[in-house]
Amino acid sequence: MNAELIAVGSELLLGQIANTNAKFLAENLAEIGVNVFYQTVVGDNPERLKAAIQTAEARAELIIFTGGLGPTKDDLTKETIAAHLGKNLVTDEDAMRSIEHFFIRTKRKMTENNKKQALVLEGAKVLPNDHGMAPGMFAKYGNHYYMLLPGPPHEMEPMFLNYGSRAIQNELETIERIESRVLRFFGIGESQLETEVQHIIDGQTNPTVAPLASEGEVTLRITAKHESAEEAKRMIDEKEKEILQIVGQYFYGYDQTTLMEALLEKLSSKQLTVACAESLTAGLFTAEMAAIQGVSTMLKGGVVVYSNEAKMKLANVKKETLDQYGAVSSECARELAENVRKLLKSDIGISFTGVAGPDSLEGNPPGTVWIGIAMKGRETETHLLELASSRNGNRRRTVKYGCYYLLQMLGEKPEK
Ligand code: ATP
Ligand code: MG
Repeated sequence: MNAELIAVGSELLLGQIANTNAKFLAENLAEIGVNVFYQTVVGDNPERLKAAIQTAEARAELIIFTGGLGPTKDDLTKETIAAHLGKNLVTDEDAMRSIEHFFIRTKRKMTENNKKQALVLEGAKVLPNDHGMAPGMFAKYGNHYYMLLPGPPHEMEPMFLNYGSRAIQNELETIERIESRVLRFFGIGESQLETEVQHIIDGQTNPTVAPLASEGEVTLRITAKHESAEEAKRMIDEKEKEILQIVGQYFYGYDQTTLMEALLEKLSSKQLTVACAESLTAGLFTAEMAAIQGVSTMLKGGVVVYSNEAKMKLANVKKETLDQYGAVSSECARELAENVRKLLKSDIGISFTGVAGPDSLEGNPPGTVWIGIAMKGRETETHLLELASSRNGNRRRTVKYGCYYLLQMLGEKPEK
């Protein structure tokens, strides 16, 4: 299925707000295998909106509108669509009740124009608005699907995730079963990954393999279509095996799994505890770990050792080490990791020391980072990173590399 997004709102054209709804929808439609080929922005003007609908109908099966579902005069999306399609607008009783309820709850007087918000296109499936008043809609008329969503992102996003996406997927499934799986990689660039698996990506129609990159990470989405979901899964399994034979060493997880989640799963299954000593990341790794539920059995704690003084006082790094090798060194990373492990009596000690940037430090260019990993019964490892992002980009990537090297040290591939 291919889609066009139409964002309605003059404030978008004036540059007063950014079209974040399009970004959100495009990303989430890709997740369910819907291709967005066009994105349109049109002002609150019935003639131009009508023209935009006609254009979209000529090139997309699914048209998703955001904005203009509210009570005011300039909100005319559903009226324009209704007029264009020759459909009536009918009052949806559930929506009317929830609007009335909203006014009672907020002790405000309901004005007549608010009733307009309960009007929906006849025959449309109503998408409840859990965070506002105007309901969304999804309908098939002729050869096209139309979805109408409210403009405010805090209303639109949960409505799409909780109701809209499911409604589209149900339609897709009546056509054919579409199964997809995302493989996540770290430690390999997008272009290298693509080159390595080019022969698998090229010329594939079913399953298809599509790469996608985000900060330091790359993913491959395998999508298979078949009448039987079982068979589609089997096709994906086969393609996955083929891919992992080539780039399996960079693979860390499936679907939405983050590197930190993959790491915690591993630590939990092995019942290992971690202590952290962080210089350039200044607590970022520890904080990211703590953001995940159930971490208390794995995270002992950590120290932020930003200055050399802190490295010596809080993590017992020897003055000679700092004098001789500097803070940005394999030796310093090693001592930090080993000492914090001893101090907190954990199974693993991990350390981060380096130059976030933008300025150089001790003759090291920005992005030079050492990660130390000390583990009971193992030789301490240190890894050098040469990152080329912004200051905070370098810090975030350092955290990811910390997860990645620790995962590698713990070995084995994640469970499906
Ligand atoms: P309301 O009931 O709030 O009037 P609505 O469905 O009528 O909602 P609009 O009036 O078009 O939507 O927009 C309301 C607000 O939602 C805008 O002022 C803006 O803050 C936000 N918004 C609308 N469209 C977008 C968009 N495409 N991307 C991001 N934000 C948007
Ligand atoms: Mg409005």
